[in-house]
Amino acid sequence: METNLIFTDTHTHLYSEEFAEDRAEMIERALEKGVKRFFIPAIDSSYTQKMYDLEKQYPDNIFLMMGLHPCYVKENYEAELALVEAELAKRKFTAIGEIGIDLYWDKTTLGIQKIAFQKQIQWAKKYKLPINIHCRDAFDEIFEVLELEKSPELFGIFHCFSGTYEQALQAISYNMKLGIGGVVTFKNGKIDQFLNQIDIKHIVLETDSPYLAPVPHRGKRNESSYVKLVAEKLSEIYQLPIEEIARITTENSREIFGI
Ligand SMILES: [Zn+2]
Repeated sequence: METNLIFTDTHTHLYSEEFAEDRAEMIERALEKGVKRFFIPAIDSSYTQKMYDLEKQYPDNIFLMMGLHPCYVKENYEAELALVEAELAKRKFTAIGEIGIDLYWDKTTLGIQKIAFQKQIQWAKKYKLPINIHCRDAFDEIFEVLELEKSPELFGIFHCFSGTYEQALQAISYNMKLGIGGVVTFKNGKIDQFLNQIDIKHIVLETDSPYLAPVPHRGKRNESSYVKLVAEKLSEIYQLPIEEIARITTENSREIFGI
């Protein structure tokens, strides 16, 4: 019955230059494996048209987010945020993302990253949209902002979750689901050690392709068809058939995105 499985990749950069040579084939491979729902995070305005083009090509499978990625919060961030705000006012999106704080690449922008993150959370509340959080070396700073903005109206996904059990519980306490990707298959990824203590109703699948490919493709280009490898690992961790993993995590993604 595998052909009836529907997997949802809740975070995939299908517009990436990495797919310039074989994008259509790559998407076809995913569709064949049952990965039928792709949620596309925004980065900055230089990618917006590419996202719209993809949505036009695959209107039943591709769903867009809008937002300003923390690594792209630079001197011009106010102009970039204004563009995000204008797009949000113009049309429908499934989430605001990816947004958050990244202290791995650049610590000097922490102040403006926080401002941009908080502002975009407020827009999510205004439009009743979920958020898609990017967190790298910044759990304390992210939680600090979420603590300020927490409310029953705030919800979303903690993308590429790679924290501790305690951090998982804290993320869930802010109505966040945990986006689980390739890291769960890594030997030193750590999250596989405690995930079975987290109710699967809090879990969604993702690839973050072209980054963070799961084993056995670790270190190579990631693609959405590999979401199935993540599901296989979760099937082991939760001792559930892969059909159940597909069904439950897709259901969880519908709860978040409303689609
Ligand atoms: Zn991403």
